[in-house]
Amino acid sequence: MLPQPEPGVFNPIKIDEQLCIRCNLCDWICPGDIIYKEEDNKETLPIIAYPDECWYCGLCDSTCPTDAITIIFPKSMIDNQTDVLRLLGKVVEETEDGQTPGSH
Ligand code: SF4
Ligand code: SF4
Repeated sequence: MLPQPEPGVFNPIKIDEQLCIRCNLCDWICPGDIIYKEEDNKETLPIIAYPDECWYCGLCDSTCPTDAITIIFPKSMIDNQTDVLRLLGKVVEETEDGQTPGSH
């Protein structure tokens, strides 16, 4: 039986069925194994089997040869105001001579 997403779960990956050539590349490239495409069936579209596990890396979108994939980012991600330095980790301050502490 083909995997099916749970009803009511937000699916960020939209596939244009007119543009999709059923090539399987999105299934192959997705690092989270979120997209499933029946390999030998040129009729079926890819299925977004685990949409809530997508981490928005964009690989499926950038790999698709016909630009059939659109990623819908949730508003909470677009509106995020977290300082990028906090996301990257600690801030290392330079000393007056341009060195970082502990580098002498
Ligand atoms: S954005 Fe990344 S994680 Fe999400 S479905 Fe595409 S390839 Fe997979
Ligand atoms: S990579 Fe694009 S064209 Fe190929 S199966 Fe996925 S959505 Fe369709």
